[in-house]
Amino acid sequence: MLIGAHESIAGGVSHAFARAEEHGARSLQIFTKNARGWSAPALTEQERRAFRAEARRTGLPSVAHGSYLVNLGSEDATLREKSLACVTEELTRCERLGITYLVIHPGAHPDERKGLSLIAAGIDEIHQRTPRFRARLCLEITAGQGNCLGWRFWHLAEILSQVKREDRISICLDTCHLFAAGYDVSTEQGYEAVMAECDTTVGLERVGCFHLNDCKKPLGCRVDRHEEVGKGTIGRTAFRCLVNDPRFVNTIGVLETPFPERYGESIRLLESLRRTR
Ligand SMILES: [Zn+2]
Repeated sequence: MLIGAHESIAGGVSHAFARAEEHGARSLQIFTKNARGWSAPALTEQERRAFRAEARRTGLPSVAHGSYLVNLGSEDATLREKSLACVTEELTRCERLGITYLVIHPGAHPDERKGLSLIAAGIDEIHQRTPRFRARLCLEITAGQGNCLGWRFWHLAEILSQVKREDRISICLDTCHLFAAGYDVSTEQGYEAVMAECDTTVGLERVGCFHLNDCKKPLGCRVDRHEEVGKGTIGRTAFRCLVNDPRFVNTIGVLETPFPERYGESIRLLESLRRTR
């Protein structure tokens, strides 16, 4: 696994790479714009060039995380169009920056089936607005908080089965969300069983990246509270399994915990879990 962290883009998107280097990261995740706002100033040509130059200089692969405001499961016409426009804009930024994956939360709706169909239709619309893009949407498994969908593998499989271009979709597995959703990855046996279920439903080859978060709350709580790796209810075993899993040697895995000042320490901890031969 290429272990890294979600890095700040303060000063411009290209500045994230130097922060990742400081943290001893082998990859990074960024927001391409403010994740708590709908719109943002356009990405300038200068920023685009600086980002690509930093990507080349450091050799670090990156993924992007989309806005938290988006809900592709919404039936409200205004919120729906805003969501479609926002994801389209973010995917366009990824395409210009050379970022392969844009991680998004699938969406929320009180009616599971209806919500999943609305999400699939929304993805189809985004694909139509971005033909021939190399940048891909990466649907993140969620903790299942409130009406949020995407906390069961079958939810993701259902969306994939309904979209016209499932070849353009990847999946992001967040360890905290998995555990909060009831997937017990805290033991070796549990880890293997969860990965086997993921494989038969969505396919492990579809996993584009991991979010490496421990969980503050118990198994199956359906509450999304990230904890630093090794300090939460999941414990170290799941992370030891992940960083040593030969299926994910070249897969990006990033920390998303609230304390960037401790990213370096957490990355060193994860690196120390690698089995040496
Ligand atoms: Zn996440």
